[in-house]
Amino acid sequence: MATQLVTEIRGGAWLLNESAEVFSPERLSEDHRMISATAHEFMTNEVLPAIDRLEQKDWALARALVAKAGALGLVGTDVPEAFGGVDLDKAASILVGEAVGRSASFATTLGAETGLAIFPLLSFGTDAQKQQYLPGLAAGQLIGAYALSESGSGSDAMAARARAVQQPDGSFVLNGEKMWITNGGFADLFIVFARVDGEHFSAFLVERGFAGVSSGKEEHKMGLHGSSTTPLVLQDARVPAGGLLGEIGKGHRVALNTLNYGRFKLAAMCSGGAKAAIAEAAAYASARKQFNQPIASFGAIQHKLGEMTARAYGVESALYRTCGLIDSSLAASHDLPGSLEEFAIEASMLKVSASEMLDYVLDENVQIHGGNGFVKDYPAERHYRDARVNRIFEGTNEINRLLVPGMLARRALRGALPLIAAAKALQDELLAPPSLPASVPDRMAAERTLVAGMKKAALAILGTAMQTYGEKMADQQEVLSFAADMITEAFIAESSLIRALQASTDDVARATLHEAAARVVIHTAAARVEASAKEALAAMTQGDMLRTLLAALRRWLKCVPADLVFARRTLAAVTVERRRYAFEIN
Ligand SMILES: Cc1cc2nc3c(=O)[nH]c(=O)nc-3n(C[C@H](O)[C@H](O)[C@H](O)COP(=O)(O)OP(=O)(O)OC[C@H]3O[C@@H](n4cnc5c(N)ncnc54)[C@H](O)[C@@H]3O)c2cc1C
Repeated sequence: MATQLVTEIRGGAWLLNESAEVFSPERLSEDHRMISATAHEFMTNEVLPAIDRLEQKDWALARALVAKAGALGLVGTDVPEAFGGVDLDKAASILVGEAVGRSASFATTLGAETGLAIFPLLSFGTDAQKQQYLPGLAAGQLIGAYALSESGSGSDAMAARARAVQQPDGSFVLNGEKMWITNGGFADLFIVFARVDGEHFSAFLVERGFAGVSSGKEEHKMGLHGSSTTPLVLQDARVPAGGLLGEIGKGHRVALNTLNYGRFKLAAMCSGGAKAAIAEAAAYASARKQFNQPIASFGAIQHKLGEMTARAYGVESALYRTCGLIDSSLAASHDLPGSLEEFAIEASMLKVSASEMLDYVLDENVQIHGGNGFVKDYPAERHYRDARVNRIFEGTNEINRLLVPGMLARRALRGALPLIAAAKALQDELLAPPSLPASVPDRMAAERTLVAGMKKAALAILGTAMQTYGEKMADQQEVLSFAADMITEAFIAESSLIRALQASTDDVARATLHEAAARVVIHTAAARVEASAKEALAAMTQGDMLRTLLAALRRWLKCVPADLVFARRTLAAVTVERRRYAFEIN
């Protein structure tokens, strides 16, 4: 594969390039570590002891906690100082997101405030709107919410029916009902989407105090009982002319860009939630005895702890890599929505993989707790229920999967990514006689070959889908979902590999740990990639073409199996010894 076909600071570029370096938790600065420590202390001392009261819907307490987070600078990390924030990079926002992920309910409250209210104002607000609202939001004194969904339009959000009619004085009258609004019960400010004259999809800043604005009853949910979710009712709601956010008819830009950031932040919260659950599982497995020994001494439990750790490592590696790319893009362009749009593909991949990784980890946490995992005396069952919604909101995982190959293909067609040329080069390689693999450096040689093979396989499936279906590709959801999974697996595998190779070999124990995690991630991903590729190829091709592609697939993913039992045991041993996620930074 050609090196540096496109500059690395482009979304999707990693698929075509060979990257040597990634941003990772090991590269965080002292300032980053300090903000992470502050956020964790706040969670330990203020939020975690208050969970039962939050679950009883004590919204005054929820408000007070957001204000405390604001006073500590944890809410305004993205906000410039001129508007009352602390103006830090996205790595700082990710660290705060991971820390608050220890309580899914509070993370949802804070995520709506920072990702869904502050972000669109920052990106699309006028100076006057920013002056009016950002200082209060950044301080956590003003609570924000985001009202896009309606009972009839969730995934198809642009089909919203809420209407806005502009009045002769420039103000608007809004009518409609929004559904499932996080912070709905106590938010002061709502970013509301409605169609002007029933047509032009637009965003508005709507205060709770405006005439005609009210909240419906709290939803009875499976989990997240400590987060408010209500309808928002707009009955001839009066919004001043200055309440239009962005332009009339351009609400989709506000909505979609906000979701790009929301997905990225949600991945951070899932990553933090998984690390906390791994610590919980390790502590329980060390304390719980059966057959006169701690259950942590059993191979079956070590397998779980090792696999949970490796999967968390994979997502964490991809998350920090993306974060580094976004921060580099921001430093060069100072364009916040533009930088997030550039990495929208990665944000969707992270949202899907992080939410599914978390569900796996929390399911195994319940299993490690046995009967105690099923009763409310232990938090394992609450985490399990709370996490389920992550696969539904911020765009369902089905929709996000479809976005990944869709966005890549669109970029290829408009010439922003030379995907078609790369897929063609792969085809030429297929027709050429098999050559011996180029010699690769010794360290993790098999894993390097596998990662390169996974990228080729993902590219080949995407290229074949584009060729086979052309403009009708969007109709082939099953094949596109397989392609999305392969692309995502390759991204996570490569991020883990580069991170592990970056670990200094001077500290042998540490380097071994990184290698063990990356090895589990890469070998298990390769098996899943092969299965997805076979399904997709069989659906798209037949005869000689199918045989040629299957032979190439075998060649790309050929590898002597690694001893993953040993790798997982290595990870489990450190997790149990430290009673925490083995790669924790603080
Ligand atoms: C606790 C909670 C908090 C929320 N907070 C907010 C909030 O703050 N603000 C807000 O605006 N919304 C919020 N939502 C709403 C959430 O974003 C939607 O529920 C979500 O977008 C899915 O929409 P839906 O429920 O209408 O499902 P549907 O769109 O009806 O989807 C049902 C199923 O069909 C699939 N599907 C739909 N369309 C397609 C397609 N084209 N191709 C393939 N599969 C498809 C979906 O993936 C899903 O599996 C929240 C929801 C919950 C539960």
